[in-house]
This record gives sequence, structure tokens and C-alpha cells, in this order.
Amino acid sequence: MEMEVSVLASGSSGNSIYISNSKTRILIDAGLSGKEIDERLKKIGACGEELDAILVTHEHSDHIKGVGVLSRRYDLPIYANDLTWQGAAPSLGKIKERNCRIFQGDFMVGDLGIRPFSIPHDANDPVGYIINSGETRVGVATDMGFVPERVKDLLWGLDMLIIEANHDLEMLMTGSYPWPLKHRINGEKGHLSNDDTAALLPKLINSNFPCILLAHLSKDNNIPELAYITVKNSLEDEGLYIGENLQLNLAFRERPTQLYRVG
Ligand SMILES: [Zn+2]
Ligand SMILES: [Zn+2]
Repeated sequence: MEMEVSVLASGSSGNSIYISNSKTRILIDAGLSGKEIDERLKKIGACGEELDAILVTHEHSDHIKGVGVLSRRYDLPIYANDLTWQGAAPSLGKIKERNCRIFQGDFMVGDLGIRPFSIPHDANDPVGYIINSGETRVGVATDMGFVPERVKDLLWGLDMLIIEANHDLEMLMTGSYPWPLKHRINGEKGHLSNDDTAALLPKLINSNFPCILLAHLSKDNNIPELAYITVKNSLEDEGLYIGENLQLNLAFRERPTQLYRVG
């Protein structure tokens, strides 16, 4: 069944992804204020009243800032694993007990199938997600220090992949961040660089892969055009050309992407 996807916000100033099919509508993360999320939902023709749930990847504030507010405003269940709940709870405010959903393994929200998978990142128990609607599958994989083999297997052959291209390594290393922060971002529990993602993608996709969306770009250590061209060149080196059957696009900090129709 066809899905609609928009990245409402992406980057260390806030992350949120809207995914729906004809019956179920969810957010993955809500790392902006509730007001800002509402405004961005409106821009893509959606609204908070219609949401069915918020799924949380991990407890960093750029992923949960608006989660508590939105849950209260629209009586939304929040799904997270146990350790993420423990990390997030102090920042969420009071949440109705019935809206605290702790998952272990795969689950359903309405008629969307949800498969969480562990990722290496410096949070309690961070996850990415594969969301499926019938045969159509969308993957969300940001905030990863590296991509383990088991994650590569999971991300293979999706209909849409939202993946991080956080930083240009040279910009990070020659930039103004203090050394411990540089080390954290570049470390095994940090973030994927443009080169990491560029090297990875040809292994995950074929020439009939509907859509790749580069996300969580650093404001200080990346340039959107650089992320795009680094990945594009790597794909082309492997004979994978951007066109009708292979889209490559960017997610933004300050505005939602278009509403992509997948499947
Ligand atoms: Zn993040
Ligand atoms: Zn994070």
C-alpha cells in the first residue's frame, strides 16, 4: 500500500519525520517545539489531530523536544524502548499512562508495521526503524557512528531510505568544534560522514530504488551541495545514475521536504 513521507525537520536543531498510509499517520521523533511541528505539518497538508502515534529513536533533545507537548495536545501514544523511555521521561513532562508504550521487538501502529533495530550511537538504546505498509517499506537510519552488517542487511532493497549524511570529515576536523566533540561525532557512537554514507549506499541499493533522502546534515560541518555531490559521485562510480528510477534528495533544517509518495 502506498505511503506518504515528509521529513519535517532534520539536523541537530531538530528532527521529525511524518509517515502515513491511507489509514495510519505517525511521526518518528518530534525534536522541535510542538508549535513548530504543528506549523510544519500544516505546510504538508497534515495536522496533529490526525496523528496516531509518535515513535522515538532515542532520547537526545533534537529528537524529543516536542514529544511530550504533542502527546498531551493530541492524546498521542509514544512508543520507545525501555531504556529510551528512562532517558527521555524527565524531559517529556507528565504523560498519560495509556500513552506510554514500551516496545520490545516488532509491533504495529494501526496498519503500519514497525521494525525497530539497534544502531550504534551515544544514547541509552538508540534505534532506527523500518516502516512497512503491505509490501512498501521505508527505512529511517540517522544518528549512527557506523553501520553494522546486520543493519546493512535490514536496509537493503527498501522503497525509500532516509539516511544520515552528517558531516564532511575535513570540515569537522578543521572546524571550530572542541576536540572532544569532534571525537564524539567522528567516533563509533557518533554520526555518519558524507563519505561513510557515499561508500555505503551502492551496497544497499540497485538502479531501481525509488528514493534516497540524505538527512541530519550538520549546520557547521557540512554543506548540502557537498553532501549531495559526494553521494551522487559514489553512486555513479558504481553505475547507479540519478533519474526516474533512482531519486536522491536532501532533507532540510528549516522546512519540510515535499510529501513523497512511495510504493
Ligand atoms: Zn540527532
Ligand atoms: Zn543523537
